[in-house]
Amino acid sequence: MEQSIAIVDEQTLTLSDLLAEAAAAAATGDRAEAERLYRRATERSPGNTAAWLGLAAATNSTEEKRSYFSRVLAINPNHVEARAALQRLAQQAPSDQAEAIRTTLTQAAEAVKADPERYATETNAAVVTAGNRAPAPDQPLTCTNHPAVQTALRCNRCERPMCTDCVRLTDVGYRCKDCIREQQNVYFTAEGRDYVVAAVLSFVLAAAATPVIQLLLGIAGILFGILLALALGPVVGGAAVTLIRRSVGRRRGRYLGVVVVVSILLGMTLGMVVAAVFHLGMSLMLLAVFAFTALSTVYATLR
Ligand SMILES: [Zn+2]
Ligand SMILES: [Zn+2]
Repeated sequence: MEQSIAIVDEQTLTLSDLLAEAAAAAATGDRAEAERLYRRATERSPGNTAAWLGLAAATNSTEEKRSYFSRVLAINPNHVEARAALQRLAQQAPSDQAEAIRTTLTQAAEAVKADPERYATETNAAVVTAGNRAPAPDQPLTCTNHPAVQTALRCNRCERPMCTDCVRLTDVGYRCKDCIREQQNVYFTAEGRDYVVAAVLSFVLAAAATPVIQLLLGIAGILFGILLALALGPVVGGAAVTLIRRSVGRRRGRYLGVVVVVSILLGMTLGMVVAAVFHLGMSLMLLAVFAFTALSTVYATLR
């Protein structure tokens, strides 16, 4: 259900918006979301090298990385970044796989040699431009924020030179703090109103669910109750996240997880008072087990 809503949302995005969202997810360290969005971008535009490069960076599998970088070379056999990445993979891979990678690289080199005009394209042009922009070798780079500090690093998005204090190594390469914050703002779009809606909904859900859960766990008894609490926690937590996400139009917020968890704890407190008044099942230990599994699910999936 949630998945299909996400897909409908993404169909209204332009390809460049989709790539920007994927890059933002990668920059915030959400590799799974980055991988999913880059995969959507490759499905939408199989000839887009940026989508395949992003997918290669987001996946953990060496085998998949190899396959995605090969796709980039199939589109543009002279792609500098993909060639460099495949060369690195060939050095790390076992000998039979390394052989296959070298064959791919050789074939790409031959394709370029066969038609040098056609493949003297954007990537090589980009390298030339970057070369022109770089100062002469006797004039060392200095950090944009700290002019006294020499550096060899650049942010790979805005290309400004940055010292080691001013860049972070992200999943998509070195990025300056400005670019990371800018991309996080693309990613975190929740407004003040969304926090209020999420807090109220979480409080009400928790207050209503707690007496019911306590009743169930009380009936189950200690031994079966622990199993029930462990089984129910992730299910109820996941259902709550689905409802809360939908209530805030699927916008993400930097502090949404914290706000929701605190509101749930407050709601549970009210629910426990109600349960005590009506003498419903009173095993606080079982409720604590349930709350821990449910809340860790909520916090892990809601950002
Ligand atoms: Zn930057
Ligand atoms: Zn600096």
